[in-house]
Amino acid sequence: MPSAHYQALAVEPQASDDNDNDEEELVVHWAANLQPSSSSHNHARYHKQLATSSGWEDRLPTPGRGMAPRLSRRRYWMLLVVPLFIVCYFVFSSPLLLGQAGGDGDDDDANNFEPHNGIGKRRHQEQILELREFLQDHSFKSGILYGTTAHALNEPLLICSDSSDDHRLYIQDKPRIAYAQLPIIYFVTPTYPRREQIPELTRLAYTLLHVPRLHWLVANDQEKCDTFLDTLLSGFGIPFTHMASPMPSKFRKSKPAPRGVANRRAALLWLQQHNLTNGVLYFGDDDNTYDLRLFSEIRQTQRVSMFPVGLIADYAVSGPVVRDGKVVAFLDSWVAGRRWPVDMAGFAVNLAYMSQYPNVNMPYKPGYEEDLFLRSIGLRIDQIEPRGNNCTDILVWHTQTKSKKSPVVNVESKYLDGRSNLGPLFRSLKLMGVASASDTAGHAAVISKNGKGRSHSYFLS
Ligand code: UDP
Ligand code: MN
Repeated sequence: MPSAHYQALAVEPQASDDNDNDEEELVVHWAANLQPSSSSHNHARYHKQLATSSGWEDRLPTPGRGMAPRLSRRRYWMLLVVPLFIVCYFVFSSPLLLGQAGGDGDDDDANNFEPHNGIGKRRHQEQILELREFLQDHSFKSGILYGTTAHALNEPLLICSDSSDDHRLYIQDKPRIAYAQLPIIYFVTPTYPRREQIPELTRLAYTLLHVPRLHWLVANDQEKCDTFLDTLLSGFGIPFTHMASPMPSKFRKSKPAPRGVANRRAALLWLQQHNLTNGVLYFGDDDNTYDLRLFSEIRQTQRVSMFPVGLIADYAVSGPVVRDGKVVAFLDSWVAGRRWPVDMAGFAVNLAYMSQYPNVNMPYKPGYEEDLFLRSIGLRIDQIEPRGNNCTDILVWHTQTKSKKSPVVNVESKYLDGRSNLGPLFRSLKLMGVASASDTAGHAAVISKNGKGRSHSYFLS
């Protein structure tokens, strides 16, 4: 069913496209795969019934009533049914036949079913079905997404602060002015409040500080502007725009949730609103690790450039397969019908190219954001520019930071005054969402000296 938020996309096969028959193949695979899978269940059930039925065993002759017929029945079961069962098990449990592999159905697709983005294995067939419906309910013409209820980019987007000034005197080893002719990279970072947010953004900022001609679009997944973030971001001196763009509440509880989608959509809307048709767009999550060479690689993107991302899912890598300098296919352990099975950090888009597709979109469809975004800009495989030494270097890593709940520290508020640093320290930790102090709850605040812990009042009163 089309989602209320975003009407399903349908792709019209494009004549000159290497990907032309992907949708048809998907349908064929799906239809072909569904049946063996369900019949495998039937087989399993059937055998189970045979094995557990009390009726048939009772009807067999007992040893006392004659041994020979009983042995021959047993041999019959051993010789015919058991091998058949084993064959059925191996055939029908193949991921390919269960419809978990997509693409062109080559044998090497067989293992390509491990998801990332939090989608469980059991839901794969369902996911492919949903994708198929989604694609059928939408329409593309010349790569443009059509549909009257297509959920156009219209996210609530609150601009909190921004600066187009580059305060950095030097970038790498040259003065800023030396880079003036380079196309700008619009680096879109969806982020959300949790205790790791400020450290993640700080680490990322110290990477971006080295990158000339970059505008950092930080889209925070919350309703209101965070003044702490305003101050933090402006302090780095990198040109930036800080916006608040919350995930619609109806998606918050869904599992998996469309993480970082509302904010990326808001950034796309911002680019549209500013009519930016020069430069390069890159989606850079707040927790990834970026090699500085990535930025030189993507800066000259003509349409869409692609490169491998390290630490993705089962293969610990996802990216294009390149032959003779051309992208011919993709290596990613979770195919699931995706035409573009790539990670969000694995491509960059030229804004002049993207602006030809006014219905650019990123649907709220967990796991399929990259695929449907790239479909919405009419990408063809022969247009992809492989980067990173023909996709042999890893210039970006899908690192993930272990997340924990912000703790409450039990320290009396009467001591959090000007007598020590602890008042301002806890106020700052609270603003950053890292930890909070409480008079009544939480971990008792132990303060120590010379290896001896005492209650905080001992030192603070
Ligand atoms: N994110 C968000 N809102 C959320 C969860 C995640 O804005 O509710 C952001 C997050 O900060 C990150 C991106 O979306 O930049 C992807 O999320 P995450 O890194 O948690 O997902 P992963 O791809 O690593 O599984
Ligand atoms: Mn991440």
